[in-house]
Amino acid sequence: MYFDPIWFLFAIPGILLGIWAQVKLSHAYGKYSQIGVDSGMTGAEAAREILDRAGLVNVPVEEIPGHLSDHYDPTKRALFLSSENFRGNSIAAVGVAAHESGHALQHQAAYAPLSFRTAIAPITQFASTAWMFIFFAGFIFHSFGHMFITIAIVVFSIMTVFQLVTLPVEYDASRRAKEQLFRLGLVHEHERAGVSKVLDAAALTYVAALVTAVMDLLYFLDRARR
Ligand SMILES: [Zn+2]
Repeated sequence: MYFDPIWFLFAIPGILLGIWAQVKLSHAYGKYSQIGVDSGMTGAEAAREILDRAGLVNVPVEEIPGHLSDHYDPTKRALFLSSENFRGNSIAAVGVAAHESGHALQHQAAYAPLSFRTAIAPITQFASTAWMFIFFAGFIFHSFGHMFITIAIVVFSIMTVFQLVTLPVEYDASRRAKEQLFRLGLVHEHERAGVSKVLDAAALTYVAALVTAVMDLLYFLDRARR
């Protein structure tokens, strides 16, 4: 009861896909962070160019620590790039920087999936934090009863919705990134495949997160039925 082997059956697809996505990403990023772009631009310069050309001169591009910690913060209306992508002038650095700029372009265009994702982010954050405590309490009190399963279904439903809406947000940001990179001539035609490989591999990690959330939800729905 405390350790349900059936859970593993549900967890396996997400775990395998997650590992595959991470391997693909580290391979693609590892390769294309070693190949410089013809334009010689750094990630920070490419992001600045894309933002300025879109009239987003007030959106700052800042450097942050961490590996692949790059993100756009809609609440601060600011773009944050990890040091290697901020300073780097590789295909990977420029590709990632353009992707994050793509999120700023979505924000400017009031792209509905991004607005929805931003709106439900605090609820998702609360649910995932609360879930850790609930799961821990379940272990301490040896209680994984009806109430526990009901809460789990609510938590993983929220996670699933969040991960589901994350997919169009991420794929659309990469689509916008590539469009701007080639339109503005920041990346040349023969560099296109490299940019795509890095961004597609990054997107796959979000697919893995969705599969994990869905399988956890299915597991608890199955438990409720049993
Ligand atoms: Zn993104």
